[in-house]
Amino acid sequence: MQTNLLYLRDAYLREFPATVVDVRERAIALDRTAFYPTGGGQPHDTGTIDGMPVTDVRKEGDVVWHTVDVAGGAPMPAVGTAVDCVVDWVRRHRLMRTHTALHVLCGVIWNEWQVPVTGGNMEPLSARMDFEFDPLPEGFAGTVESLVNAELAANRPIEVAFLPRNTAVHDENLIRTKVNMIPEWVSEIRVVDIVGLDKQADGGTHVRSTGEVGRIRVLKTESKGKGNKRIRLEIVDA
Ligand SMILES: [Zn+2]
Repeated sequence: MQTNLLYLRDAYLREFPATVVDVRERAIALDRTAFYPTGGGQPHDTGTIDGMPVTDVRKEGDVVWHTVDVAGGAPMPAVGTAVDCVVDWVRRHRLMRTHTALHVLCGVIWNEWQVPVTGGNMEPLSARMDFEFDPLPEGFAGTVESLVNAELAANRPIEVAFLPRNTAVHDENLIRTKVNMIPEWVSEIRVVDIVGLDKQADGGTHVRSTGEVGRIRVLKTESKGKGNKRIRLEIVDA
């Protein structure tokens, strides 16, 4: 059994019909889903399945499990039931804007300082990312904020492609994101390309162009030790 991951090809799909393929206590597996499961630094979606609130989404192997809030002990749908699903679009679109902003940040920092990212975390419209700086350059917060905002305002298109593994591992633009570390059995690699700025192997959901992000504001920079500096930022309307 394998869930068809609709969000990989259409990040803008927010309502979809599906069929229940497995059920356990308070969680439902569907044949197809547009609900993004927590992973790759992006938090899960919320929404409803047949009106039941979805409170958590996790991928276990090839199957996505949707935790639902069964109010007043209403029965879980049986296997084979057709259900109508709705993704909470306010939360999801904010996460898409945030995720794209972080790829722009990575691209800008790589182009300007050739420094790789070491970790990060995002919430809707806020995030932190760690980079291998030692120390941070003079005036860093203001410089990076204006460089990122210039790239967002440039309204670069974002393209998602599925490349054969052999093509992806030989793409010079993907080398810094360690595509060669992806397990050998993965034959097709999903690539998110902010055209002319940043190209990464990535499973997340992104907006169509950088203009849709808005602007970023750097809130704080912190040292997390030698060769590890943290940037906290928020995403605001343009
Ligand atoms: Zn990403």
